[in-house]
Amino acid sequence: MAGQHQIDLDELLEGQWMEKSRQRARLRLVDSLESKEGVTVVGGDIFTEEGRLTEAFSFYYARLVACSSEDERFVARWAQAEAERAERILTSDKDNLERIARTYISEISKTIEAGPTATRPGLRFNQKSARQIQDGLLWKIGLSDYIEICPKITGSRWRLSNCKVVNGQVILFNEQQYSSSAKLARLLREKIKRDIEQEALKKMNDITTDLAVRLAEPVGMIRNLMANKASEAIALVGADENDWPPCMRKIVAELENGVNVNHFGRLFLASMSATLALPKESCVGFFNGAPDFDESTTTYQVNHIYEHAYTPSGCGKLKLNHNCPVLPGDDRLCDISWMDHPLKYIRATQRWKAKNQQVEQTTRQDDEPISGETSVDSTQNNPVESNGNNQNN
Ligand code: SF4
Repeated sequence: MAGQHQIDLDELLEGQWMEKSRQRARLRLVDSLESKEGVTVVGGDIFTEEGRLTEAFSFYYARLVACSSEDERFVARWAQAEAERAERILTSDKDNLERIARTYISEISKTIEAGPTATRPGLRFNQKSARQIQDGLLWKIGLSDYIEICPKITGSRWRLSNCKVVNGQVILFNEQQYSSSAKLARLLREKIKRDIEQEALKKMNDITTDLAVRLAEPVGMIRNLMANKASEAIALVGADENDWPPCMRKIVAELENGVNVNHFGRLFLASMSATLALPKESCVGFFNGAPDFDESTTTYQVNHIYEHAYTPSGCGKLKLNHNCPVLPGDDRLCDISWMDHPLKYIRATQRWKAKNQQVEQTTRQDDEPISGETSVDSTQNNPVESNGNNQNN
């Protein structure tokens, strides 16, 4: 493509023609940090030659910036966001799914099951609804391919023991909530992510000083965004155990006492721990007392939750799932009308503490002698007394 359209590095970095690609690349990079669903599909035109050029070269430009950032965490995040975008496109791109799948998976076949089912009327188009669209295809992939990919995906439907294997192939059954094609796209996402990340890490070594200087502006933008994200996290990381909301403390205490906390509560605790940047080992340790504790399974699940940075559930869902222990009057903060999320609870506690500290500091400063007053009589040990004496004068 680059040869055909005579696009070289200079054109990509500074050329007028590639301006659109660079703009789109910036959006892709910001999306990978800001959006929970990865790089947005909207805005990317892949149906015209010009649109395809913009999309393709915006990816290359974004990769150059990611490599120049020399930040492996960012590279991993960007690769994840790009792979999520690819999954969304492939889930609904019946024509190209097979072609792409064959480049990543060594053994794959399909059968036609039944006539395609139309999208349910009124169904909002998002990744979840896209997964429900049945196209009448039933995919099967080789056992070795499946074993390589599936450990990276959580959820019981992906466990090999829950899958049907016929003649060395795993059948990706159509489910009402998850079509066979969508399952194939989900598996491909893992492969795509790994490839993007590995290639970017390799290319990091090829970034010369000259290239780094030319990419300083977009790299600076990424570093600033990363720093902002980090400071948001640090503010919460400062939260000590006393700042935790009652729901979190209750779940930790119950697990400690061997109570079988429900799935919702466990997911909440792990996602809160990830948001508060508690060490993963501490989070695994919370589950130590659970009746069904298995260290390797818990570590795997905790790793997954930390990697995907799930947002912890709000009070409404916690109440619905019997994970909120407070009744009206039990906790003043929980009683406040705007208290609808445990993270708000922590922020409110921290703000309150900070205010108290400020008041304490001001009081201390007021109590301290003003410079010069002690020199009036350096033998006096009590600054309050000293202050008082001067006032009397
Ligand atoms: S009201 Fe919200 S923050 Fe308070 S304990 Fe219940 S779920 Fe947690």
